[in-house]
Amino acid sequence: LADRLQNTIQKIKGKGKVTEQDVKEMTREVRLALLEADVNFKVVKDFIKKVKERAVGEEVMESLTPGQQVIKIVKEELSGLMGGDESKIAVADRPPTVIMMVGLQGAGKTTTTGKLANLLRKKYNRKPMLVAADIYRPAAIDQLETLGKQLNMPVYSAGTDTSPVDIANQAMVKAKEEHLDYVLIDTAGRLHIDGDLMEELIQIKNNVNPDEIFLVVDAMTGQDAVNVAESFNEQLDVSGVILTKLDGDTRGGAALSIKAVTDKPIKFAGMGEKLDQLEVFHPERMASRILGMGDVLSLIEKAQENVDEKRAKELEDKMRSASFTFDDFLEQMGQVRKMGPLDELLDMIPGANKMKGLKNVEIDEKQISHVEAVIQSMTAKERQDPSIINASRRKRIAKGSGRSVSDVNRLIKQFDEMKKMMKQMTNMQQGKKGKKGKK
Ligand code: GDP
Ligand code: MG
Repeated sequence: LADRLQNTIQKIKGKGKVTEQDVKEMTREVRLALLEADVNFKVVKDFIKKVKERAVGEEVMESLTPGQQVIKIVKEELSGLMGGDESKIAVADRPPTVIMMVGLQGAGKTTTTGKLANLLRKKYNRKPMLVAADIYRPAAIDQLETLGKQLNMPVYSAGTDTSPVDIANQAMVKAKEEHLDYVLIDTAGRLHIDGDLMEELIQIKNNVNPDEIFLVVDAMTGQDAVNVAESFNEQLDVSGVILTKLDGDTRGGAALSIKAVTDKPIKFAGMGEKLDQLEVFHPERMASRILGMGDVLSLIEKAQENVDEKRAKELEDKMRSASFTFDDFLEQMGQVRKMGPLDELLDMIPGANKMKGLKNVEIDEKQISHVEAVIQSMTAKERQDPSIINASRRKRIAKGSGRSVSDVNRLIKQFDEMKKMMKQMTNMQQGKKGKKGKK
């Protein structure tokens, strides 16, 4: 999706004036891109209609930067499609707050139950209890108990002989006794939508009266995810959706369709198998990511957890002003390393997904050391102002770092491209500022 949209965006970005023909061409491309990304057909149709209406309206024609204005509209409509503003997690008037997790087998319910409990404790300082209500596979109970041990959190289970409804009821009593403030119920799934399962889930729902019912959906299943979401929602009236495996989904089709079809917000996104890889879902940022502008905000947020905040802010400013140097690049790589898997982070850097070369260089830890070696072989002056690095300097740097001249050339070229991308992004953001005055 990103690639396709980017081509169109590149075309339209520099334009001084956008004609109706341009808009037509662009919306056609966007439409194809969305369909290719497996977005629901009806959703695409409505989306294009909205964009067209706004794009041929005065909003664009009278703007100083019509091309950017069109992009802005696409972005706004995209994020609107995914839910507009981000939503919060419920808190019951009287604890415990009850969250029921539902979804198909393999969607990621059990894992996400653990992740959510972890997030509730870490971010909101809550005391959660996990409840093993999937009694059909003994392994499912073990899985949750293992998660509980890893997190050092209480797990309520009663083996496979007690009914899920009784387990849920007993867990509620226990949580009250122990003054825990969240109860997360991990329920059973099936491979397909199934009447018995729904019946059981409805019974649990009627007994414990959950404050939230989160439908866990596998993003990799694309259009199927939308159908699943629709039928679960019909039966259970879920309160929100958690989209898992977004780390493996390059198309983003499910994220785009689910809100539109079920009218339920996507609240969280699973970004990997580890217990800290659950993020609050930000429609606006997802829209940026889909549009290939990179998810600077998420990156900064992640950085703040691991890096000194002030330093992160400085780097952010530098990125925005596109004034950063090889020294900053070096430092950033060091920090990025601290933060976690590189490929995951790289997706968030503006334009990085466009630079296949850079991506390959960075994913491999060994390669990253090579990049560091090259930068370290540059003089302070060269790092500040790469434009002075001529052929003989390149040769010297290659020798000093033990890399080839073409390695050096490639890195410098990639660095230039990255700066260009950042500049573009900054311009785009300033365009927004100019129009709205603030934000
Ligand atoms: P359940 O049957 O719905 O309870 O699903 P599980 O929680 O057992 O998860 C099924 C598989 O998906 C496991 O191997 C998980 O590690 C994996 N999984 C869950 N969430 C994510 C995610 O966000 N990203 C990735 N890559 N894998 C995930
Ligand atoms: Mg499970």
